[in-house]
Amino acid sequence: MNRTYNAQVDNGLFVLAYYLNKSYKDLTMDDLKSSVDLFADKMYSSVSEDGKPAKTNWYSLSTQSHNNSFLNQYTRTRDKIYNQLKDLIDGIGQDKVCMCCGERLVNIKYENDAINAFLAGAPSTKNFFNKSNNLQTIDICNKCLYLSYISFLNTQKLGYAFLYLSDSDEFMEYITEELQLNWKTLDITLKQSDMDRHFIETMSEFISYEDIFDDMTYIDLIYFQNGKTNYYEEDTVPKEKIRFLLRLKKRGLINEFYNLKLFKPYLKDKFLMYYLVDRNKLEMKCGEKLYRELEEHSMTKKEIELIKYTTEKLLERDSAENILKDLKLCNKKSEFERFIKDRSKDVLVYDSLEDFIELTEGFYKYKSVLEANLLIKKNKGGC
Ligand SMILES: [Zn+2]
Repeated sequence: MNRTYNAQVDNGLFVLAYYLNKSYKDLTMDDLKSSVDLFADKMYSSVSEDGKPAKTNWYSLSTQSHNNSFLNQYTRTRDKIYNQLKDLIDGIGQDKVCMCCGERLVNIKYENDAINAFLAGAPSTKNFFNKSNNLQTIDICNKCLYLSYISFLNTQKLGYAFLYLSDSDEFMEYITEELQLNWKTLDITLKQSDMDRHFIETMSEFISYEDIFDDMTYIDLIYFQNGKTNYYEEDTVPKEKIRFLLRLKKRGLINEFYNLKLFKPYLKDKFLMYYLVDRNKLEMKCGEKLYRELEEHSMTKKEIELIKYTTEKLLERDSAENILKDLKLCNKKSEFERFIKDRSKDVLVYDSLEDFIELTEGFYKYKSVLEANLLIKKNKGGC
């Protein structure tokens, strides 16, 4: 079988491969068809313990993801889950090509009200606004729906239902094994805002910043809900960012990074230096060590040199405190430009016209960095 890069379908594929002890590449349709019993057992025992709701990640997720009465009403029997899985397998057709896996496995006559319970974001009669649309025209095959359904076993709870999806097969195999071996002890109290710690701790258990899977370019963090309401959010963490986060951990700076809540802005490519200065109190929010790491990571050498030059020139004529007070009033590019010009009356605070343009065009960026550099100097009692 092949990967589809749909989060749920791929996670289901790795779950299937794990339990059948095969590479996903060697899985056949017969393997899929003969796995119904196995997954009826696995899924039932993940939500039910002696006829009571299991105290597990999966029971707590059962109303949020893969929502259907067979999973979240634990009193229903294993046979109900079995029948649902069997129904999906029996419904595999060959009428049309599946938009997810690209194989001719779509059955245009297959009907199932709970389609959205199997695949996040899939329209169904329950969530589709215009019910007159013919829902059978959504060309997703039952093999993909089946894999989506069993991806439940790779789903974690971080506020929302949560799945990893990476282009690295090795990572997908690793995380699948971790989740299957530790499913009884997964923390069900984690929130979406705990993702930074959860992600970095998980990563550092098996990779270091010097040594990340060769076949990896990214990991997607996928939050979703396909219960009564639908929700989907995705953050991509490229390998370079994983490497940098692990480096911060190794250097003992990661707790400061967590406390400043920089993870989300970092993933969204925000300019992190902006978050490091408390502009009301005119104080640094982090130590110099973390600041320098982030500076080196967020800016080019040329940019760092340019702002270093301007900081030194400004300090030749006035105290950091006075400069910071003036800088605080620069809320627009034109005000910053005026500030630079005023401070350049006797001695130019930039090296060339090119640098002046760079500074003022990059007002948003350079203002924060200038503030931080001045605050660091001030804290050192340099002026
Ligand atoms: Zn398919």
